[in-house]
Amino acid sequence: MNVTAEADCLFCRIVAGELPADVVETTERVVAFRDIDPQAPVHVLVVPKEHHGDVSVLAAADPTLLAEVVEVADTVAHDLADGQYRFIFNSGPRAGQSVFHVHGHVVAGTQLGWSPA
Ligand code: 5GP
Repeated sequence: MNVTAEADCLFCRIVAGELPADVVETTERVVAFRDIDPQAPVHVLVVPKEHHGDVSVLAAADPTLLAEVVEVADTVAHDLADGQYRFIFNSGPRAGQSVFHVHGHVVAGTQLGWSPA
């Protein structure tokens, strides 16, 4: 487990290889793996290896790393789909965040609806 990992963080444990995941892309600081409960033909979670609680925290702490997360999301969307995709950060429980290690959802591979509420 890396030095920035948090005990009992699900995604820190996936990053550390302690829990299995279907990894589709890895860089030095970012990993992307398929969501366990996909909501679209392509549904991939893109996470920084370092632990940051949500996108606001990451944006303040390391905007370069946030940019790398977006770059990986774009690569995944072009590799696994046709490059047309939605990239979503749920930030806070009221927005639907359930895992408090920042992650963006790449959803693609179908015509997407728009009903976030
Ligand atoms: P959130 O609700 O925090 O925006 O998104 C968390 C996502 O993590 C959900 O889409 C959920 O399906 C996914 N998820 C939860 N547990 C696991 C797991 O153990 N492995 C993987 N690959 N995805 C998970």
